[in-house]
Amino acid sequence: MTFPKQIRNLIEAFERLPGVGGKTAARLTFYLLHVPDEEINRLGNAVLNLKKDIYYCSICKNISDKEVCEICSDPARDKGLICIVESPLDVFSLEATGKYKGLYHVLHGVIDPLHNMGPEELYIDSLMEHIADSGKRIEEIILALNPTMEGEATAMYLKNKIRNSNFEIRISRLGMGMPTGGDIQYADETTLQQALAGRRDYE
Ligand SMILES: [Zn+2]
Repeated sequence: MTFPKQIRNLIEAFERLPGVGGKTAARLTFYLLHVPDEEINRLGNAVLNLKKDIYYCSICKNISDKEVCEICSDPARDKGLICIVESPLDVFSLEATGKYKGLYHVLHGVIDPLHNMGPEELYIDSLMEHIADSGKRIEEIILALNPTMEGEATAMYLKNKIRNSNFEIRISRLGMGMPTGGDIQYADETTLQQALAGRRDYE
């Protein structure tokens, strides 16, 4: 037995989402069949409008509804500190700790040759511009990349790139406490606070 085409289409669309398997995709689809039309419309419109008026901040590449994001334009933030992360979700998690007052730079990925992600696919050039434009104001760069093989390779690449550019900047990494293979976006606030407070020089 095969499902009607509309149902198959939606199941396939859900299956392409990260972390959604075939069974979950089917369950979500059949759940939506019973949902009132107005709720379906709300969901459909939210998906359709998702990318409208969403920008990457021209400075830090975090998602924003303005050209320069709230964090970069906040005069109270410490402009001497840049925390480099893989994804906007990591910014969200670090902001939830309430302990970090510096700026961010979002790479939108990590170096991952198996998935054809090289340094040129990431926002590394704009990071170097961000650093150069800040002149001598930047005192420290925190490499807050996930403790995965790709995260390690990216941290190493960035450290060498920054060192070779002759910027006199302290480079640090998040401290212990981050579980190996664990993602920043899934770490709880206390773990992240400790990882920030216990950050160490990356030589
Ligand atoms: Zn920004």
